[in-house]
Amino acid sequence: MTLVWGPWSDRAFHLDKMSLRDLLGAYFSYYAIQAYILVTLACIIGVAMTATSITGPLIATVVVVLLYPLVEYLLHRYVLHAQFLFKHPATARAWKRIHYDHHQNPHELAVLFGALYTTLPTIAIITLPIGWLIDGLPGALSALAAGTVMFSIYEFVHCIQHLPFNPRNRIMREIKRRHLAHHFHSERGNYGITQNMFDRVFGTFYAQPRDVPRSSTVYNLGYGPEQKRTYPWVAELSEDDETYARRRKRRAA
Ligand SMILES: [Zn+2]
Ligand SMILES: [Zn+2]
Ligand SMILES: [Zn+2]
Repeated sequence: MTLVWGPWSDRAFHLDKMSLRDLLGAYFSYYAIQAYILVTLACIIGVAMTATSITGPLIATVVVVLLYPLVEYLLHRYVLHAQFLFKHPATARAWKRIHYDHHQNPHELAVLFGALYTTLPTIAIITLPIGWLIDGLPGALSALAAGTVMFSIYEFVHCIQHLPFNPRNRIMREIKRRHLAHHFHSERGNYGITQNMFDRVFGTFYAQPRDVPRSSTVYNLGYGPEQKRTYPWVAELSEDDETYARRRKRRAA
């Protein structure tokens, strides 16, 4: 395929099979990924200017890397799949952008990546205090850098899961299959995106779609007709379910 700069507009794109090179090109052309790289570089410079020893920054980095999979699991399960975000006008738009639209049309490239205005503050709020407690300012900056790197890795894995790219690595193929089951079979399990470790710990892991019943809310995440009447804000900004369904089919063809 020929790569267009940033296929991530709101125009519906149908991508042909992608090579790893295509995938990397598309990934690095997204503005949020470029922003994470800039933040990481700025943090590294900040650490170099403020740290008196390498130990504190190193510990802060390791702690963030180890905590990352648990945080990914908890945020996806208890924030993105919770129902409180569509119940308040102040958070309805963000929820639509960061998870509702992604489940309504998992092929929609414009909402495949997290929105910077929600991701960067979340990464900062979680990592800065942890790093600060470990080693003050250099610790905080190291933790933030580790957070943006881990989140960028997550975005890359998530790209692989939704783009027409067939990973050679067996484990990568398995987690792709499980994330697609989270999207097309039941959203009540397989919350892990870069790993399924905590799905196993918390009992939400399923290996095959046939292991759990098909969920009727896999696309609308429980924001059904009744919820739309009580909490209309997401619906006011969105297409109806039939339009979403048509778009999903168009891309799957
Ligand atoms: Zn997804
Ligand atoms: Zn989800
Ligand atoms: Zn196709």
